Amino acid sequence: MNQPLEHDPIFEIPNDCQREASFRGWSYMHIPIEPLVGGGFTCINPNTSTVACTACGLQADAARLNGTSPYDFHVQRSPGCLFFNPFRHESNRRQSFLYWSGYSGALDIDDLVAAGFYLTEFGQGNIQCFCCGISSSSLSQIVDIRQQHTQLSPHCVFIRNVLSQ
Ligand SMILES: [Zn+2]
Ligand SMILES: [Zn+2]
Repeated sequence: MNQPLEHDPIFEIPNDCQREASFRGWSYMHIPIEPLVGGGFTCINPNTSTVACTACGLQADAARLNGTSPYDFHVQRSPGCLFFNPFRHESNRRQSFLYWSGYSGALDIDDLVAAGFYLTEFGQGNIQCFCCGISSSSLSQIVDIRQQHTQLSPHCVFIRNVLSQ
């Protein structure tokens, strides 16, 4: 079911504002947009009722959901999608470090959060990338964390997006 988007082979972590903006000029004004945006979908073409999740590639025909909410459709068809990962939000990653005491030579929390990392257990535990899952044991403190993230995990969509901005 998870067919990649044809126009965009590099998936992106969904951004709520960008999803909403994608529906500007959409031809299907009788279909409410909010549930689609809230369900993680982006308008890929204003002249078709098919919308897509840019994180997992799942497509849905908004005119044929037959009462199923877009969110439910998404979670049923693609439960592992990054859209459902709370740590895709920078504020939640930052929150996970609230009671972290760090370790000797630990990186700055701002840098870790910006590079996609969160603390896997509240207040303790490992640092892990929410997107690709690489963890702290393989990270050294001396180099640029974002560069190292890319080297260790070249296919991580999150860090690729960060570095391309
Ligand atoms: Zn998805
Ligand atoms: Zn990653």
